[in-house]
Amino acid sequence: KVGMNVQDLSKLLHRDTAEIIKKLFLLGIVTNQNQSLDEDTIEILAADYGIDAKQKEEEDLADIDRFFDEAQVNEENLAPRAPVVTIMGHVDHGKTTLLDYLRKTNVTEGEAGGITQHIGAYQARLDGRLITFLDTPGHAAFTEMRARGANVTDITVLVVAADDGVQPQTIEAINHAKSAGTPVIVAVNKIDKEGANPEQVMNQLMAYDLVPEEYGGSTIFVKISAKKGENIEQLLEMILLEADVLELQADPTVPARGSVIEARLDKGRGPVSTVLVQQGTLHVGDPVVVGNTYGRIRTMQNEKGVDLKEAKPATPVQITGLNEVPSAGDRFVVMADEKSARAAGEERAKRAREEVRNAGSVVTLDTLFNTM
Ligand code: GDP
Ligand code: MG
Repeated sequence: KVGMNVQDLSKLLHRDTAEIIKKLFLLGIVTNQNQSLDEDTIEILAADYGIDAKQKEEEDLADIDRFFDEAQVNEENLAPRAPVVTIMGHVDHGKTTLLDYLRKTNVTEGEAGGITQHIGAYQARLDGRLITFLDTPGHAAFTEMRARGANVTDITVLVVAADDGVQPQTIEAINHAKSAGTPVIVAVNKIDKEGANPEQVMNQLMAYDLVPEEYGGSTIFVKISAKKGENIEQLLEMILLEADVLELQADPTVPARGSVIEARLDKGRGPVSTVLVQQGTLHVGDPVVVGNTYGRIRTMQNEKGVDLKEAKPATPVQITGLNEVPSAGDRFVVMADEKSARAAGEERAKRAREEVRNAGSVVTLDTLFNTM
């Protein structure tokens, strides 16, 4: 153990301190009995007595979840970060229209001209503050990501068409938000339409514990028209307000970790993935383990195709440099070096294969349902 001195060691080896000091002297190490010894010296000396001192507990490299479960951040370095928002709601209630509007109108100066690519997430800006929107999660993707342990969403925006009211997928979305523990902001959409009845939506949603502030509740409702861009700025303001309440923070100084938003194989560039950085700062060149694969960040781009050198917490980036295509919801962690990233990735792949093999022999209800 590090910090062990000659006296400790002599007790451990059942030898005189004088004998140890003499042996060390013969090895060319001059010391006294209170001086602490380094790991290598202890190992050499122990080996001389026929003892394997390599009893240092091997940390499980493959267990990357520990980086998320334990708060491995420095309190002093915590800094505010952008909220990560998922838009959900019933089909045709206007999710895509809202996302498209936000994407078009929030091109910041200096970034204009870049061709917006669909990378599964992007950032909008209001008064100099950023909001990260995830635009893949359809409900199925959301569930799958959560099943893989990724909990990336801070706030759910529930889109409900004012001319259609609460529908089955509206309720499904509410349940997703509840199980993920995120606050819900209701965007009552299509208020420009004839027959729009926002009050009815508000009344219906009370049955699901979404009670508007004007009725004595605490849920924020914003009446919008995604098509006409009406009250969208107000919606962004409300998201930032909710973010303030949540006091979202991250430590940008630690090695980066986060989750995969989406991934695919590109003919020319190989595996291309969009990841969301959740802690730390991700750099080009960082060795990473991602799900059951690994690699080194070769390129990093934002949704406008701009090359980035680093990405801070709550930033979504498209990366290349992985060996294989990970899955949405997989976690990633930057490792100390390429060797550990590789070891961790290979070990995780091996364990995943074993799990599949083991599961193959026993058909459980779960595996049955998952293949259905
Ligand atoms: P999604 O299935 O939730 O993604 O819904 P879409 O965004 O595809 O919208 C479905 C339809 O509703 C499209 O024809 C949109 O143009 C229309 N739509 C969306 N938002 C509005 C709105 O605010 N007002 C009106 N009048 N139509 C809208
Ligand atoms: Mg859509």
